[in-house]
Amino acid sequence: MIELIKLGYEYDALEPVIDKETMEIHHSKHHNAYVTKLNDAIKGTEYENTELVDLIKGLDKLPANIKGAVQNNGGGAINHNIFFTQLVANGKGMPEGNFKNEVIKTFGSVDELISQLKAAGATRFGSGWSWLVVENGTLSVTSTANQDSPYTNGATPILGIDVWEHAYYLNYQNRRPDYLAEIFKVIDWEVISQRFDEATR
Ligand code: MN
Repeated sequence: MIELIKLGYEYDALEPVIDKETMEIHHSKHHNAYVTKLNDAIKGTEYENTELVDLIKGLDKLPANIKGAVQNNGGGAINHNIFFTQLVANGKGMPEGNFKNEVIKTFGSVDELISQLKAAGATRFGSGWSWLVVENGTLSVTSTANQDSPYTNGATPILGIDVWEHAYYLNYQNRRPDYLAEIFKVIDWEVISQRFDEATR
């Protein structure tokens, strides 16, 4: 059984970047539904007590009767865990330490990293995610469709931007680039730096 995470902040904490109603629906309805449907799919199977991350990493080995549900709902569960726990009111910190060094080495600057994350989100057709991932100690920007996770492809996601319309539509309507321009104001770079350290340990 997977549990819906509790947020470390109030639903209105990220205003005006993300409005209260969007946050409440996103967490208590969308994220909650992914968790509930995942649990329904694995209940009574040998995967009932498997860690969520292991389900997603091992997606291709799952039996056909639960694979699709785990891909969509398990992916939705883990992607939103990553998303909601990297957000903080007014943003926090900047890339630092080993993470910052690797960002400079790979992208040239933090601004260039953010620019690539925005572009990956803006050009993802339909619903999906823009990601900063670590693979074999190396950073790269990528995107996935729907609720697919970089974990399934052998990479470790350390920053994920949800570009499903449910993440921004109340505030930004069809203007996904405007949402992408704003959301980096509420990223907790201390969390991202810690995730990098864990992924490269
Ligand atoms: Mn979402």
